[in-house]
Amino acid sequence: MNTRGFDIAGLDGGRVSVTSRQLEDLDARIEGRLLRAGDEGWDNAVLIWNAMAAKTPALVVQPTSARDVATAVAFARDHRLLLSIKGGGHNIAGTSIAEGGLTLDMSRMRDVIVDPDAGLAHVGPGCLLKDVDRATLAHGLATVLGFVSETGVAGLTLGGGFGYLMRRFGWAADNIEEVEIVTADAGIRTASRNENPELFWALRGGGGNFGIVTRFTLRLHAVGPTITGGLILWSAERADEVFAAYHDLTESAPRELTAAAVVLTAPPAPFVPTEWHGRLVAGMLVCHSGRSAEADLAAVHARGDPIVDLITEKPYVAQQSMLDDMEPKGLHQYWKTEFLPDLSTAYLEAFRAGAMKATSPLSYSVIFHIGGASNERDEDDGAVGNRDARFISGFSGVWPPADDRAVEHVAWVRDAWERIRPFSTGGNYVNFQLPEDDAGRTVAAYGKNYERLRRLKAEYDPDNLFRVNRNISPAA
Ligand SMILES: Cc1cc2nc3c(=O)[nH]c(=O)nc-3n(C[C@H](O)[C@H](O)[C@H](O)COP(=O)(O)OP(=O)(O)OC[C@H]3O[C@@H](n4cnc5c(N)ncnc54)[C@H](O)[C@@H]3O)c2cc1C
Repeated sequence: MNTRGFDIAGLDGGRVSVTSRQLEDLDARIEGRLLRAGDEGWDNAVLIWNAMAAKTPALVVQPTSARDVATAVAFARDHRLLLSIKGGGHNIAGTSIAEGGLTLDMSRMRDVIVDPDAGLAHVGPGCLLKDVDRATLAHGLATVLGFVSETGVAGLTLGGGFGYLMRRFGWAADNIEEVEIVTADAGIRTASRNENPELFWALRGGGGNFGIVTRFTLRLHAVGPTITGGLILWSAERADEVFAAYHDLTESAPRELTAAAVVLTAPPAPFVPTEWHGRLVAGMLVCHSGRSAEADLAAVHARGDPIVDLITEKPYVAQQSMLDDMEPKGLHQYWKTEFLPDLSTAYLEAFRAGAMKATSPLSYSVIFHIGGASNERDEDDGAVGNRDARFISGFSGVWPPADDRAVEHVAWVRDAWERIRPFSTGGNYVNFQLPEDDAGRTVAAYGKNYERLRRLKAEYDPDNLFRVNRNISPAA
C-alpha cells in the first residue's frame, strides 16, 4: 500500500499523526495486508451490512494470524488510535468500522477445522455462519448459529447468538469451549473454563470488549443433516388466528422445534402467488430438528389455506441460508427489539397493532422463540444477560438509501416499539442495538452481569482500547 504518513482518529477524540516510516514498519511486520482508500480490496474491507451505519476508517489491517493481530493491537495502543474489529460486518449499529480510525478486518482468517471425534470445530474469526455450517454439516454436526448465513460468527457468538438450535443447546456463546484472544496488552492468551476462566466468562456475551478473538473452539451436536422447516404465510387479515396458533405452538413445542412469527409485505418472489405480491401477510418460520416433526407441526398445518407453504424436509444448511436473499447488504436498517418473558394476549394485540402499520414494503415485524436450554444456565455460565427471556420481539424498518420517507419509516418503528415496551423483561439483545442506543440500553442488555463485566473490563482493558462496540465502561 501507499505508506505516506497521515492523520488517524485517536482514542481520545483528536487526531494522531502517523508517519510514513511508522506505517512502513507496521506493513513490514505483518504477514497480512495494510490497506488505505483506493487500494485493491478496500471497498469490500470497509463495506458493512447496514448502509445507515456506514463509516470510513483511515486504515485497514487484514491480519492472517494471531501474531499479526497482536502487532496491530500494539500499534493502535502505542499510538492511541481508535480501533475497531470487523468479523462479518453485520452489526446493525455498524460497530465494526472505526470512523477515521484503524479497522482490523478479519476476513483473511476464515478457516474451519472440524474434529468430529471430539465434537468440536476450530473456527477463524473472519468466518461467516455458512462457512461453519457447511464444514460441520458434512459430518452431520452443527453448532448454534443465527438465521442468516452471511452473518459473522465472531460478533454473533460473542454477543450471545441465537438461532434454530438455541432451544436445544443454549446461546451460541454457551457453545464456546475455548478461544484464543489478543488482549489490550497485545498478549496472545487462551481462555477456557480452566485457563483465564473469568476472561472466558466475560467473552461469552460481552462482545468485543475484552480483546480480539483469533480462534474459536465451538461445541458441535448431531443435527440433521435434514430437518423439517420453512416459511408458511397467510393473509395478515388472519393475524389474530396465526398468532394464537403461534402462542399455542410455542407453549407446547419440544426443544427440537423453533418457530418465529412474522408480519411482512409479500415479496414479488416466485414462491408467492402474483396476486399476493406487495400485500401484508402473517406467518411463521419453523425449523424442527427432531424426529416428530409431522406431529409437532400438525397445529401449524391445521390453519388451512396458507398463501405460501414452504415447510418441507431439507438439508439443515439450506434452512440456514433460506433468508439470505431477503437480507442483502446496502439497505437502511432501523431495528428496535425487546426481550419478553412470555406471549400474553395483550402483547400479541400490541404487536399486531404495530406490525400492521409498517410504512416500507421491506420492513417486517418478528417474534423469535428463544428460551429452552438457554433459560437453564445461570449467570456463572457466561455473561449473556437476561437468561429468563423466552422471546425476542420487535420491528425492523428497512428501506433503500434513495427512499425519501426515512423519517416516516423510523417513526413507524419507534411507535410500534413503544407499544410493546411495557411487556419487556426490561432487557434487550445487545446484538440488535442501534448506534443511537445509549449506555442504559447496554446496561439493560446485561442486567445483573453488567457490574462484573465492568470489573473485568478494568482488569483486561483499563484504557478502553476496545471501545468501538456496545461498550462496557471499565469500573473506576
Ligand atoms: C441480517 C441479520 C441477521 C441476523 N440474525 C441474527 C440471528 O439469527 N441471531 C443472532 O443472535 N443475531 C443475529 N443478528 C445480529 C448479529 O448477531 C450481530 O449483527 C453481530 O454483531 C454480527 O456479527 P458480525 O461478526 O457480522 O459483526 P461485525 O459487524 O463484523 O462486528 C460486530 C462487533 O463484534 C465484535 N467482534 C467482531 N469480531 C470480533 C473478534 N474477532 N473478536 C472480538 N470481537 C469481535 C466487535 O465488537 C464488533 O464491533 C443478525 C444480524 C443481521 C444483520
